Amino acid sequence: MSPATRCKAETLLTEAALRRTPPRIAVLQVLLNAREPLNQDQITARLDRDAPNKVTVYRTLQALCAAGIVHRAFVQKRTWYFESAERCTEHQCHPHFTCTGCGRTSCLAEMRLPAVARSYKGYTIQRQRVQLEGLCPKCRECK
Ligand SMILES: [Zn+2]
Ligand SMILES: [Zn+2]
Ligand SMILES: [Zn+2]
Repeated sequence: MSPATRCKAETLLTEAALRRTPPRIAVLQVLLNAREPLNQDQITARLDRDAPNKVTVYRTLQALCAAGIVHRAFVQKRTWYFESAERCTEHQCHPHFTCTGCGRTSCLAEMRLPAVARSYKGYTIQRQRVQLEGLCPKCRECK
């Protein structure tokens, strides 16, 4: 993978005050290079031959999520999909769109949604994550 992505991954870890361990750098690089959210198996498949084992990848993702540099984007068939948090703001994730025709989920990273109030009837809202569904451009064409 490119030295620029590696450098970016290392910077993100430093900023999040996380130790720059090889599995963290590797997993983060995969997510920074990905065009869409990936599940754990897809991440493992993109790691090099000396990929860390399943438990390490799992723990790495938990640590990166806890630090806020990786987000759980959505869940599909009981599996979480992860993505780098760079296209989200502090309190708001970009929306994800699931097509009811083909089942594909896409990031609508450019779409801006109004943010809800940060507190409501005693609930504190820390993150707004919106899931949209309908027909994607490809499936709409076939109707
Ligand atoms: Zn997010
Ligand atoms: Zn579709
Ligand atoms: Zn996304």
